[in-house]
Amino acid sequence: MYPNGARFAVQLSFDLEMVTNFPYWPSFWNHRKGAIDEATKTYVGKINAKCEAYGAKAHYFLVGSLFEDPDVDYLKKTVASGHAVGNHTYTHVNLKAREVERLAGVYDRCPWRAAGRSAQEIVRQELQMTTAAIRQALSVEPKGLRSPGGFANGLQDDADVQKLCQAEGFWWVSTHYNDSLYRNYEASSAEVTNKVDLDTLSEAFNRSQHVLQPYRYESGLLELPLAGITDVVAWRIYRPDLTEWLSMLTRGVDYAHEHGLVFTLTTHPAVLAAIDPFCQTVEVVLRRALEKEGGVWLPDLEEVAAHLNETGYSRQPANLAKTQ
Ligand SMILES: [Zn+2]
Repeated sequence: MYPNGARFAVQLSFDLEMVTNFPYWPSFWNHRKGAIDEATKTYVGKINAKCEAYGAKAHYFLVGSLFEDPDVDYLKKTVASGHAVGNHTYTHVNLKAREVERLAGVYDRCPWRAAGRSAQEIVRQELQMTTAAIRQALSVEPKGLRSPGGFANGLQDDADVQKLCQAEGFWWVSTHYNDSLYRNYEASSAEVTNKVDLDTLSEAFNRSQHVLQPYRYESGLLELPLAGITDVVAWRIYRPDLTEWLSMLTRGVDYAHEHGLVFTLTTHPAVLAAIDPFCQTVEVVLRRALEKEGGVWLPDLEEVAAHLNETGYSRQPANLAKTQ
């Protein structure tokens, strides 16, 4: 199924933005997601170095507003080293919003920025501005679109947004996030105060990656889900310590190898810089993957999507909730 006869695939993606609650719990960034701080820029270099040491490609999704900072050398180096960059909207807006109040990000505080535009017009312009910024500042085409936030059913319930993504040049997206613990958390709408133990965490991680393998919408658009558990959800809600997080990832790689899956992990350099200063997340995943018998494929997400197209992959939409 995978190139060069590999048994499974491992891909690490990184949403590049500042993240509320990091590095300090009271930190609030939702209105200035693109204000990438020095520690995060430095950390991107660490991620790249680790990936290169193991022959892997990192895939970054960028909020376009980060290009308002004149210093984007760290991204120029990233691209020159062969890592991929994709679109994460300009200010981190909700792709499915139909009212300006639902866009979130800068529009929460400053709804007047809409200036008469509809929510969907704003989404379209945010995608266009980010694509233009990537082209102008880095001289490359964006590879793929990751939705801010992620949706528990991807874009399955929103054919209009699928069309919008396709019209803006995206033939694959990454919008589907769900894990069984998160669903319970949402349902109870109460903050989980009890730390989740490693076995429960691992089970949820592996169940998510099992169900959230790539699939194709009826529109033809490919979905490459944010399978597993993201660093933000883990640290904001489930509260593992670093050792437990790394153990969960190791078990996740083992599971992906055993079942021949695409292992994908979504993290944020701004979060990892705070919780994992030595970048063990990348180290542990790649080292484990390369130890596995039968071989691993280490692509960027665009290469995963291209491979699925070439092999006529047509898996139907997945839904974690329905299969439980
Ligand atoms: Zn994001």
